[in-house]
Amino acid sequence: MATRVDKRDYYEILGVERNADAEEIKKAYRKLAVRYHPDKNPGDKPAEEKFKEATEAYEILKDADKRRAYDQFGHAGLTGAGTGPGGFSGFSHFDLSDALRAFMRDFGAGGGGGGFEELFGGGRGRGASGPASGGDLRVRLKLSLEEILTGVEKKIRLKRMVPCEPCRGSGAQAGARSTQCPQCHGAGEVRQVSRSIFGQFVNITTCPRCRGEGEIIEKPCPSCHGEGRVEGTSTISVNVPPGVSAGNYITVRGAGHAGPRGGPSGDAVVLIEEEPHEQFERHGDDVLYRLPISFPQAALGEAMVVPTLNGSVKLKVPAGTQSGKLLRLRGKGIPHLRGHGTGDLLVQVFVWTPENLSADERALMEKLSHSRGGQPPKAGRSFLDKLRSNLGG
Ligand SMILES: [Zn+2]
Ligand SMILES: [Zn+2]
Repeated sequence: MATRVDKRDYYEILGVERNADAEEIKKAYRKLAVRYHPDKNPGDKPAEEKFKEATEAYEILKDADKRRAYDQFGHAGLTGAGTGPGGFSGFSHFDLSDALRAFMRDFGAGGGGGGFEELFGGGRGRGASGPASGGDLRVRLKLSLEEILTGVEKKIRLKRMVPCEPCRGSGAQAGARSTQCPQCHGAGEVRQVSRSIFGQFVNITTCPRCRGEGEIIEKPCPSCHGEGRVEGTSTISVNVPPGVSAGNYITVRGAGHAGPRGGPSGDAVVLIEEEPHEQFERHGDDVLYRLPISFPQAALGEAMVVPTLNGSVKLKVPAGTQSGKLLRLRGKGIPHLRGHGTGDLLVQVFVWTPENLSADERALMEKLSHSRGGQPPKAGRSFLDKLRSNLGG
């Protein structure tokens, strides 16, 4: 991904004063986003850049912490030294699909302030005539927790419809022309008027003869039977930012099925899945690890070595640790997606009760069982409170 070297000032991008409040920033962004939204400017690269730029500016300035960092240090405060991994580094991944998602999150259907259709005055997508879009492609991408921890670039092979080569996607045999559809006269739609006691209704539907394209092909291409596309494969590369979870998706624009007869390609929607891990269990951005310890280790305390998703660390199990105790290693979990900060590693201690005792061990245990310190407290309030406080970590 190309990195922009000279970034513009975020306030300048949105056209607001440096002391603008949240409402002014939101308003200014909404205006720009609606103007430059890719659905309104299909194939217009400069508009797409403006949309991304405005969204990035909005994402920073709407977040009080990030705005403060930006005010103080400029762009360097967001990507430069000092923030380190898990800082604002997520923004190096900021691409069009992120921008679209950010926009839909705050302004899309259910995201507050009117649905998408309302925002654009209805009618997104293609016009009345013209080739249809190819349709989106959904693929699943399984990731390990280690990959989620660091973020990863993945190559995915897609089975998709690709433009037909002999006819270069037109669907027409070499030399053959397409002619205006006789049924709709090129409009791509047909009107049906019906009358009822409430008055006259005009029903507009896609022309069945040309399927809305306004044109029909005289001699179809033999390779694709006039479809303009054939089954094929292609490999895409997907940049997965750190901290994603199952159910997140990444949209790769234009990587879906090629449209029939030169129509625009759909998107590839990559749905994230998580592989279960042998040692760790994910809870939000925290990671749970279950650590078995011996009864003497629990009683006497010991510095233990525990694995993390990224190397192992030392952990002091304090003397007198009860089974089930949660110990927290801050920042050793999974980075928050698009936020700064990282989840924790939760180490839950389990005391292993010995099963096959030798004669010597048995003698030791019997000695211990008669000692006063070896007895648990009476089951009751104080005992339950103790167990509960253990689980709180
Ligand atoms: Zn027609
Ligand atoms: Zn063809």
